Amino acid sequence: MANIFDLSGKVAIVTGANTGIGQAIALALAEAGADIAAVGRTPATETVEKARALGRKAEIVSADLSSIEPVQRVVDEAVEKLGGLHILINNAGIIRRADSVDFTEADWDVVMGTNLKSVFFLCQAAGRHMIAQGYGKIVNIASLLSFQGGIRVPSYTSSKSGVAGLTKLLANEWAAKGVTVNGIAPGYIETNNTEALRADETRNRQILERIPAGRWGAASDLGGAAVFLSAPASDYVQGHILTVDGGWMGR
Ligand code: NDP
Repeated sequence: MANIFDLSGKVAIVTGANTGIGQAIALALAEAGADIAAVGRTPATETVEKARALGRKAEIVSADLSSIEPVQRVVDEAVEKLGGLHILINNAGIIRRADSVDFTEADWDVVMGTNLKSVFFLCQAAGRHMIAQGYGKIVNIASLLSFQGGIRVPSYTSSKSGVAGLTKLLANEWAAKGVTVNGIAPGYIETNNTEALRADETRNRQILERIPAGRWGAASDLGGAAVFLSAPASDYVQGHILTVDGGWMGR
């Protein structure tokens, strides 16, 4: 029987691949056989070296995804460097914290641009390529704040709710064209992004008490979900946002 999790011969774009969740997902896909276009502002040198050590092709694609021009050339560059495109992981993301009454337009725009606008236009560019070849897998990294309000993160919550909605819309439009569009909502994961939360003793304790698994997630905990949603195993899964949160949402 064919291995339904095998990604051999597939090319994956992973944004924000130099660190945290993006790096862990890129390496999980490489373990499963995929070649990797590692996209981001900071060159994902370590990720590319590790993927090559696994015997995969891997290339850096430099792009600041907060503006539209780099977003539009990422897919062309990845296809040119790696010879195709089958998987897109929209992972790059940022957060800005302030009370809503004080929140600035700059913090609204940079978060919406990076977390939502770039995701749509990367999906569009990749989607055109995938629809033309009749096959593709798109995975958008959402958040628990795709479903919950949070506090002091108005642009982040809005962007991640938008990512969840967009994922469902694109799944509707592209399901009959051979392209699956799904998402992953990570819970509380130990990365640079959450360092300040973990350093706040009270907040850290409150978070741990609320997580049924009793621990923060590791970036590597996202690898299995990403491989599943990138592989033939998930070909009939559409518009789904898979929570990987140690049980947080079910509580
Ligand atoms: P990190 O801060 O560790 O990584 C974020 C990544 O996004 C980095 O590679 C960063 O690159 C990249 N990035 C940020 N801005 C841009 C930009 N303008 N252009 C290109 N790349 C950019 O965070 P995480 O690994 O924690 O987060 C990854 C994703 O997971 C995000 O979308 C986040 O919202 C989401 N998430 C994380 C959770 C967590 O608990 N950690 C929970 C829920 C969702 P650079 O290093 O160059 O800035």
